[in-house]
Amino acid sequence: IKSIGILTSGGDAPGMNAAIRAVTRSAIYNGLKVYGIYRGYKGLVTDEIQEFKSQNVSNIIQMGGTILKTARCKEFTTPEGRAQAYENMKKHEIDALVIIGGDGSLTGARIFAQEFDVPCIGLPGTIDNDLYGTDTTIGYDTALNTILDAVDKIRDTATSHERLFFVEVMGRDAGFLALNGAIAAGAEAAIIPEFSTEVDQLEEFIEHGFRKSKSSSIVLVAESELTGGAMHYAERVKNEYPQYDVRVTILGHLQRGGRPTAHDRIIASRMGVASIQALLEGQRNVMIGIDDDKIVYVPFVKAIKNDKPIDRELVNVLHELSI
Ligand code: ADP
Repeated sequence: IKSIGILTSGGDAPGMNAAIRAVTRSAIYNGLKVYGIYRGYKGLVTDEIQEFKSQNVSNIIQMGGTILKTARCKEFTTPEGRAQAYENMKKHEIDALVIIGGDGSLTGARIFAQEFDVPCIGLPGTIDNDLYGTDTTIGYDTALNTILDAVDKIRDTATSHERLFFVEVMGRDAGFLALNGAIAAGAEAAIIPEFSTEVDQLEEFIEHGFRKSKSSSIVLVAESELTGGAMHYAERVKNEYPQYDVRVTILGHLQRGGRPTAHDRIIASRMGVASIQALLEGQRNVMIGIDDDKIVYVPFVKAIKNDKPIDRELVNVLHELSI
């Protein structure tokens, strides 16, 4: 291969810029041409493609968001849209793609790679940490730290008023942000989709945790249809346990922003360099992961639509420490 295209797709995540920088610089270092593709698959379909030099990615490692912009693209889910995308790749003589995104983006990459025999390498870019085969995803650590800052502040007001707070965090059907956020913030409980069918997590928490001896309680709730979200639990408490003064905070999109942490910048840089290495080795259709602090290649089929398990040890830590 002589040239590669790089794009960010789906939900944005802090550290995507560090990944763009790493992929671009590593490709140039190894003698490849690099094309920045704007707005995810949309730019591939509509030909928003620009050659990138080393200076195009100067001074971006510390920035949240993505300089390439990101988007959701309906056309790319159709064979006609993908054919158009392939035409544009040929036009610019782009031989391979590096896609930074979440489950949906890598699903698109997998289908595209099969249809057109294009080598595609994925980088896990999502705050949700829901891709299988990698310890963490780019953006997750930053989002976790943002949640901590917010919950620390909520704790001040919760304690002053002796209230029960439900704080809703992102996760899109994965409980990593809620569970680890709860552990790190010293929250009383986490309600996560992984256990939504197993037990009534509210009942469990009320029995275990919310006692009057505590001046406040904070429960992190993962947004998900399976949990029903923080509002759902607040309503339940109002009906079933009217003695409690309950409040809801939905953290929302502030979780996606901000300067990436050292951890996210480092894994984004390592994964970016590894993506070029993988292409030069003839790898295709794999996601780059970091497992046990080592770079690994995870086939798309394994990385996507594969429920990444929540470690029971974490659940136990939260449970023991919230007495
Ligand atoms: P994320 O990558 O954050 O999970 P989405 O699920 O919104 O975000 O997916 C991002 C984009 O990936 C979609 O807008 C679409 O262009 C592409 N995509 C997702 N699923 C498919 C699919 N099954 N086939 C083709 N493209 C897809």
